[in-house]
Amino acid sequence: MNRVYNFSAGPSMLPEPVLKKAAQEMLNYQGSGMSVMEMSHRSKTYMSIIENAEALLRKLMHIPDNYTVLFLQGGASQQFAMIPMNLMSKNKKADYIHTGNWSKKAMAEAKLYGKINIAASSEDKNFSYIPDNYAFSPDADYVHITSNNTIEGTAFKRFPDTGSIPLVADMSSHILSEEIDVTKFGLIYAGAQKNIGPAGVTVVIIRNDLIGKHEENTPIILRYETHAKNRSMYNTPPCYSIYIAGLVFEWLDELGGVKAMEAINREKAKILYDFLDESKLFSTPVNPRDRSLMNIPFVTPSDELNDKFVKEAAKAGLSTLKGHRSVGGMRASIYNAMPIEGVKKLVAFMKDFEMDNR
Ligand SMILES: *Cc1c(COP(=O)(O)O)cnc(C)c1O
Repeated sequence: MNRVYNFSAGPSMLPEPVLKKAAQEMLNYQGSGMSVMEMSHRSKTYMSIIENAEALLRKLMHIPDNYTVLFLQGGASQQFAMIPMNLMSKNKKADYIHTGNWSKKAMAEAKLYGKINIAASSEDKNFSYIPDNYAFSPDADYVHITSNNTIEGTAFKRFPDTGSIPLVADMSSHILSEEIDVTKFGLIYAGAQKNIGPAGVTVVIIRNDLIGKHEENTPIILRYETHAKNRSMYNTPPCYSIYIAGLVFEWLDELGGVKAMEAINREKAKILYDFLDESKLFSTPVNPRDRSLMNIPFVTPSDELNDKFVKEAAKAGLSTLKGHRSVGGMRASIYNAMPIEGVKKLVAFMKDFEMDNR
């Protein structure tokens, strides 16, 4: 089988040039005589790989010097726990904006460390929108948002103003997809397997004044301070995932950076949303104002037709369009690495399907 257009929500597509380069370098990385997977993480060669990855990420996101970049393990889910462990030390209180499945999991961990206030929620309408009326606690240690909701297909278009309270964002499913102002955040985190690289590495971008505020009984391995002091080398980092992430950053940089990527992403999403808006068979439940550029859920009027669509699309080389088990229907995840041709092919297929199934 040829390579397919893979609409998986994660792990998801990687840019083909990145996979080709990794294949070329698999057995013998730049004359080192070994694969990156076999190399000491303390070797000069590997040090230059991780340093290069960090430098490129800093360049792509315009990360200022007063922020530390960490490459950690444990996924975004581990950050759900590390954030309260490390940041909830002053008032033992945090505000969460509840926008779906992932914010729910984030809150479940935070509740183990202190008091959680739901500053706003879109649960009343099945998380189909982003709330914009917030009731923040003046004494919250931080405010947490899930800036792109992978399952529900919503995204914050404006970030809440939290004043002097640090804003923490789970950007797992849209980091590097559009320009954001890092200085608005105290901490940004993202698991790699959507827009950065292979699973196994999690990027944390933390403002330096928030490092070292953990509770005394916080395990050493779970302190931001530990990883910041050791430049993500306290223990063996996820070496190969970081290497691939570095190649993805290079690819993005050569493409013109996040600004250029954002323009392509807007074009890709518009093609699909325009069709969904005019279609008489397909529709999307998401509030138009809050639509994600990355994850686009959609349905037909019946479960039978949904199943038929997913099966027939797969046969046509449009893979993994089944929606998340909690919402059903379909979902197209069109991350950075999804070429515009993939979206065009999907929409052409949807048009044909609509003609045949009216
Ligand atoms: C995928 C995802 C997660 C979970 O990531 P893991 O790496 O599996 O822990 C958390 N938050 C968001 C927004 C996600 O899309």
